[in-house]
Amino acid sequence: MRDSLVLCRDAQSVQPPLPAWADAVGDVRLARPDELPPGYPYGLRFVVPLVEMPLYLPYLPQAVLEAGVRHVVRRVAALDDVMDLEPDVVVNAAGMAAGALVGDETVFPVRGQIVRVTNPGLRLSVRDEEHPGGRAYVHPRSEDCILGGTLEVGSWDTEPDPGQTAAILDRCIDIAPQLARSRVLQTVVGLRPGRPEVRVELDRELLPVPVIHDYGHGGAGITISWGCAQDVTALAKQLEATT
Ligand SMILES: Cc1cc2nc3c(=O)[nH]c(=O)nc-3n(C[C@H](O)[C@H](O)[C@H](O)COP(=O)(O)OP(=O)(O)OC[C@H]3O[C@@H](n4cnc5c(N)ncnc54)[C@H](O)[C@@H]3O)c2cc1C
Repeated sequence: MRDSLVLCRDAQSVQPPLPAWADAVGDVRLARPDELPPGYPYGLRFVVPLVEMPLYLPYLPQAVLEAGVRHVVRRVAALDDVMDLEPDVVVNAAGMAAGALVGDETVFPVRGQIVRVTNPGLRLSVRDEEHPGGRAYVHPRSEDCILGGTLEVGSWDTEPDPGQTAAILDRCIDIAPQLARSRVLQTVVGLRPGRPEVRVELDRELLPVPVIHDYGHGGAGITISWGCAQDVTALAKQLEATT
């Protein structure tokens, strides 16, 4: 669980009604002046989970293997490339590729560039969604800090842009001045798998066996992953009950 601060530029943003997410978070309070970076008049403080992906991603398949699953790694060119495994059901959770695999043209990339830097001793996650230079967020992790970011709808470009790296550093130093002492470790670009809405749905048309789609998670795929997985499980159980 990570102490977090959302910076606000006007009084209205910190007065009721608070943003929609505040209800889910629960304990949200006004930041004290001594908790704000220079130049910021307002902020909201709360505690939320922070997931460290280099730890979490290896853990997930390990947990699945420990549950007794047979693991086959293979790149599929079409969804029916898995039929030789004689599945009872196929779950289509191929992220950015899921749309192409099933001919869904509403899937689109949302490019995000982030910068990984040394942690100068920060423990607080800070963000300013209204920074004039673009969104700014700082997430301290156990070994480093993730600084973001960009959100470029429709861009397939996975090459880091040095101009964006400099701009991200500048605006993150505005919201966490201690970062001026940090060293850049890496710049990374990812494509969020966008879609007008998340698709978690049973499809009996595509293959001789039922397909459960689970894709289009956009910029919130980690946040909603357990909820989507529960929905997929419920659909699979429903299938089991009717066969
Ligand atoms: C910069 C950035 C910041 C983000 N920050 C957050 C955040 O703070 N919170 C949050 O909740 N989300 C965040 N996201 C979004 C999150 O990473 C995605 O929503 C999430 O990873 C989508 O998960 P997924 O399982 O649908 O797709 P993926 O994670 O892309 O997984 C798809 C899998 O399918 C496999 N695959 C694809 N094609 C094939 C094929 N043809 N054959 C076989 N396998 C295939 C891939 O190898 C991959 O393992 C961020 C994303 C970016 C880029």
